[in-house]
Amino acid sequence: MAPEPTRHEFSRLLMGVEARIVVFHEDVAVVEEAVNAAFDRIAGLDAILSDYRVDSEVNRLCELSGGAGSGEAIRVSDDLFEVLQRSIEFSRASNGAFDVTVGPVVALWREARRTGVLPSQESIERAMESVGYEKIELHDTNQAVRLTVSGMRLDFGAIGKGYACDEGLKVLRAFGCPRAMVEMGGDISLGDSPPHEEGWIIEFDDPHALSNCGVGTSGDRFQFVALSGVRYSHVIDPRTGWAVRDSVEVTVIASDATTSDALATSVGVIGETEGAALVKLFPGARLMVR
Ligand code: AMP
Ligand code: MG
Repeated sequence: MAPEPTRHEFSRLLMGVEARIVVFHEDVAVVEEAVNAAFDRIAGLDAILSDYRVDSEVNRLCELSGGAGSGEAIRVSDDLFEVLQRSIEFSRASNGAFDVTVGPVVALWREARRTGVLPSQESIERAMESVGYEKIELHDTNQAVRLTVSGMRLDFGAIGKGYACDEGLKVLRAFGCPRAMVEMGGDISLGDSPPHEEGWIIEFDDPHALSNCGVGTSGDRFQFVALSGVRYSHVIDPRTGWAVRDSVEVTVIASDATTSDALATSVGVIGETEGAALVKLFPGARLMVR
């Protein structure tokens, strides 16, 4: 008789959160190799997508093409190009509610969190001159990116973890471990179901059994700043530069975690009603408001 798959769980600190992998498999040696490769893949993505590391590929792109204002087209890695392509797709679908060029205003709101002082409308307007996804130029022929306005900063905080979960899961599958899940700070990529189960049990109001999909949650439960009695989220409306007020916690289920991550943040900006219409544009996607 073939041995029964058993449950294996691992975690590693990556992208500023605890990345967690759960795998059901009968051979622990296979699992260890697969999980190490998956974590390494995620660490590699951190070196590309992180806005905190000065030497990340995206920060170098911003320095070369945006920051100094050379306006040069810079050839980028497959991952950076793909994340940018997908980001722009979500920006278009959400009419700009999702926008990875929010970096300059995110910096102002991070400072507000530190100092407890609201950013001035003037400083927001100045930062907004370097915000807008239509200011990114993607050159398909040579996989190059041009940031057309000086001072642009890209921030993958709302999509990078979802993408990393998806890529981690792909590695696990490639190593023969498809019954797996990868979770990073509220974003989850689910593979095939655990043995004898209908799916991975994810708790919303009622528990759901899910497999082969992504689950993303966005909300300000842990990340917000209260200023003069108003609770400002870490999610920004890129169309005004203002942090979202009184945000609701939303969870989106979608075909992959890149989509669920980006959509959960978008719904946080536009709210439940418009959000439901946005989510409908993505086959298999569902919105759960807690
Ligand atoms: P999430 O937790 O996935 O909702 O992502 C929130 C993070 O994404 C923030 O901490 C910012 O770094 C960045 N961000 C904030 N607002 C937006 C937005 N409207 N579109 C894209 N990224 C955003
Ligand atoms: Mg998100």
